[in-house]
Amino acid sequence: MSNTERKIHPSTAVLTAGFDPALSVGSARPAVFRSSTYVFPSPEAAERAFAILGGRVKPEPGETADLIYSRFNHPNAEIVEAHLLPLENNGKAAAVFNSGMAAIMTALMAHTRPGDAIVYTVPIYGGTQSLIQNFLEPWGILGVPVAGGDSAALDSAIQHTPHCRIVLLETPANPTLTMTDIARAVESASRREPRPLVMVDNTFLGPAFQHPLDLGADISLYSATKYLGGFSDILAGVAICKDPEIMRPIRARRSLFGNILAPDECWILDSRLPTVHLRMNRQSKNAQRIAEKLVAHPAVKKLYYPSLFTDPEQIRIRDAQCDYPGGIFSVDLKGGKPAAFEFLRHLQVARNAVSLGGVETLVCHPRSTTHSAVSQQELQLSGVVDGLVRVSIGIEDWRDVLADFESALDRAALLQ
Ligand SMILES: *Cc1c(COP(=O)(O)O)cnc(C)c1O
Repeated sequence: MSNTERKIHPSTAVLTAGFDPALSVGSARPAVFRSSTYVFPSPEAAERAFAILGGRVKPEPGETADLIYSRFNHPNAEIVEAHLLPLENNGKAAAVFNSGMAAIMTALMAHTRPGDAIVYTVPIYGGTQSLIQNFLEPWGILGVPVAGGDSAALDSAIQHTPHCRIVLLETPANPTLTMTDIARAVESASRREPRPLVMVDNTFLGPAFQHPLDLGADISLYSATKYLGGFSDILAGVAICKDPEIMRPIRARRSLFGNILAPDECWILDSRLPTVHLRMNRQSKNAQRIAEKLVAHPAVKKLYYPSLFTDPEQIRIRDAQCDYPGGIFSVDLKGGKPAAFEFLRHLQVARNAVSLGGVETLVCHPRSTTHSAVSQQELQLSGVVDGLVRVSIGIEDWRDVLADFESALDRAALLQ
């Protein structure tokens, strides 16, 4: 087989695709292009670039609009987008945004009009919940929540919601890790005409362990602030589409809203992509070892982690759509909130902070922080109880993190 015929694997392509050193004076790693505007070779070239950007002329096959102005596009966005594509099976177009919320907002607003409806799983990330309830609903776009993992209810909502344009799934759900069957939601959407777009917030298990586009979803969305960025030091968001036509209006809105990821942040994100599989694999192995030990600790009432699922339907969905259980688990402590706080107070290796997916282990109490604005009724539905602590495992030596958790849990057990 010649080099050109051989299939390039994702972990290679992320280092070799889409970046030509000749365009960065030969540097092995990309330069940062901070310019806000780009010089045209001729007035005709400027005219053509604007015509392509405005959708007034169709580009020739392989032709992209010349760089114009950095709110529309810039070299570092192009480079990081080219490197994101091989990481998402079946991805054909990627776009970067200045936060995960910016990616979600832009994807939703690009594909809905007032009078349309969005069916979405709950619990869902608090920002997404608020975007739908407090912004899109008053704007005239109806949000229809369905409990994550309830396939029958999801089928019914997809079939019966008038003007359903988008089905937005977040799986696994935060913080209980309840999984929703992506392939079945796609199936259900296909039975409607016009077919709603299926979008998956893939932040928790992607791109390493869950591949929504392979399962038929149209868009995979990320808070790249989490595993893709990986070091808790940048905010970024990503949308990856199966069909470039679905991306076209999203890019157009991004140009308008001005929420493209800035060149320096693109460069940082790009430098993290080659290690995302290494990091996530280590985080998942660490989390599995730690979770499977902690589940037997006397202070623990219940531990939520995919390898510890007991519900047969959840096990079936997990085995059908996830390669590994991932780096996040939640633990419900017997002593309720006082025990949870005592546990957090006595951690020495792990840190008490929201967010997840970084190389360092972070632990938070959702009821009093990330989920504090959620109503009592919704809290019950989403399983956010007083004793619940969410854990995002890092790449430390797992034995140190386990020992830290065990001694802090011993302290929490004293409060029972
Ligand atoms: C953090 C997060 C978001 C929001 O991303 P930002 O980068 O903070 O805007 C969306 N979805 C999930 C699942 C998240 O964890």
